[in-house]
Amino acid sequence: MNIDGTLYGRDDARVSVFDHGFLFGEGVYEVLRTYGQRPFLFAEHMRRLRASADRLALSCPLSDEDLLARIRDTVAAAALPGDAYVRILLTRGVGEIVYDPAACPTPTLVVIVKPHVDPPVEAVRGGVRLALASVVRNHPGSVDPAIKSNNLLNNALAMQQAYREGAFEALMKNHRGELCECAQSNIFVVRDGVLLTPPTSAGLLVGVTRGFVLECAADLGVPAEECVLHETDLASAQESFLTSTTREIVPVVRIGAQTIGDGAPGPVTRRLMTAFAAAVPSRLS
Ligand code: PLP
Repeated sequence: MNIDGTLYGRDDARVSVFDHGFLFGEGVYEVLRTYGQRPFLFAEHMRRLRASADRLALSCPLSDEDLLARIRDTVAAAALPGDAYVRILLTRGVGEIVYDPAACPTPTLVVIVKPHVDPPVEAVRGGVRLALASVVRNHPGSVDPAIKSNNLLNNALAMQQAYREGAFEALMKNHRGELCECAQSNIFVVRDGVLLTPPTSAGLLVGVTRGFVLECAADLGVPAEECVLHETDLASAQESFLTSTTREIVPVVRIGAQTIGDGAPGPVTRRLMTAFAAAVPSRLS
C-alpha cells in the first residue's frame, strides 16, 4: 500500500477518520490490473481519473508519469507472485467536518496493491447469471454514474441483491427504465450479429474495458453500436457478456428470468475474448 508517497504493509496502512473520503464519500478512484509488473490501459485509466476528479473540483497531485512511477514502486514492493490488482483512491483529504473544500488543502492519494484474481474458470467457460436489480442506477443529475466516485452505496445495494439471489452480478436499469450497466461492469448483447451496448446517455460509467472491447470489435470487423436497450430486448439477444477491468469479458447466459440465446456463451463473445487476449501486450505500460 502507498499513502501519499509512503509505503505501508496491509495491516499498517491507515487514513484519518477526518478524511472527507471517509466522512462524505468525497473522492474518486480507479482500478487497473497489471500483467506481470506492467499496468494495462494505464493512459485510459488516468484520463478517466482526471475527468472524475474534475467533476468534484479535485485535482490529482501527480502527473501521469509520477503516478505510474508510484504504482510501479508499490507493485514492486508488494512482490506478488503474479498479476496485480491496483486501486488508486484520490480523496478530498483531511479537514474539519464541513463541506467547504477549503477545509482540506491537501488531497489524499492511496494506491492499494493486492493479487489480481481472475473470474472463476466456470464463469468464463459456461457463462454467468445476472440479477435484475430493483435499485435504479443513479440519475446523472444526481451523483453522475460517469464519475467513478467512492460514493458506491447504490452499487453496493444492487450487489446485495445479486448475493441474495446467488447471481454473479446485478444489472441495473436507469431512471427511464432502460438497461444501463451492472454494479461493477458494463453490459453488451449480440443481436443478429451486431454488438450492442447502452449509450453513455443512459447514465453509466464509461468502462475502460467497454472502450477496449469496442476497439477489438472494430479490428475484427464485428459491427457494434451504442443502442438503447430494454428488458424486452433480452428475448431477441443471441449472446450477452459483461466487461470490467478485473473480469475483462465474462459471458452472460441468463438475466433475471430470461435465458440468453441457447444458454451458452456464443461465437461473437468467444471471438472477442480471443482478440482481447491477443491485443493485451500492445497496451501495457
Ligand atoms: N460500471 C461500473 C459501475 C463499475 O464499477 C465498473 C468497474 O468497476 C465498470 C462499469 C467497468 O469499468 P472498467 O471497464 O473501466 O473497469
